[in-house]
Amino acid sequence: MRRYYIAGNWKMNLTPSEGALYAAELAKAVQKGKPDAKVMIAPAFVAIPAVLEAVKGSPIIVAAQNAADHLSGAYTGEVSLSMLKDLGVGTVILGHSERRAIYGESDALINAKTKLALSEGFEVILCVGETLEEREAGKLEDVLSRQVKIGLGGVSSADMSRVVIAYEPVWAIGTGKTATPDDADNAHAYIRGLINGLYGKDVAEQLIIQYGGSVKADNVKELMAKPNVDGALVGGASLSIDKFLPIIEFGL
Ligand code: PEP
Repeated sequence: MRRYYIAGNWKMNLTPSEGALYAAELAKAVQKGKPDAKVMIAPAFVAIPAVLEAVKGSPIIVAAQNAADHLSGAYTGEVSLSMLKDLGVGTVILGHSERRAIYGESDALINAKTKLALSEGFEVILCVGETLEEREAGKLEDVLSRQVKIGLGGVSSADMSRVVIAYEPVWAIGTGKTATPDDADNAHAYIRGLINGLYGKDVAEQLIIQYGGSVKADNVKELMAKPNVDGALVGGASLSIDKFLPIIEFGL
């Protein structure tokens, strides 16, 4: 039985003080509501220490939205996994479509980051997903296959217990357009099949696959009801408690 995993990606929103206020409120609500789901929030790097402090004692996981592919050195402007580990962060989102499209991150770079993060003991949320152009050209499966196979190249079966895949169709991110529950389930089933081919049935059945793309309180229930949808990676609707809490509590 896979446990639902609901994650909030704050992107470049919420300052350290705004993030800490919101996270403290969320921690209180989560402790009171005792949702069955695993809950994560990913603030901007500079807000991580304040947010970690604010959620102390609660089950909320604080993650990073990205990390460098080296542990230290002359990489101006980058933040390393060892720095994040030192703060107490143990989860990192890698390969988000905004990192791929805006900052030109390749599958090979995302793979290097994934392997480094796993070797440093992190849980990795690896994001994959097609653009509208790719979907309309019938390339959905080719894109997912490439992103999954290259992204996980060299990752051992044992390390797969710390990998989560987030399927985020690029055309549904921040656009208000959500994949239908059947579209999401079909893509997730395809990804699970790829993992079955690479690692076997046990790893494939244990893999958590989150859906991301305009998830809101009013569509989360039907998405999560699908057999291959095990959680959500939420952008816009994770930025305030009134929008995020109903998503976390969908199962209560
Ligand atoms: C995201 O960026 O991961 C995302 C899914 O954003 P939104 O929920 O705003 O579409």
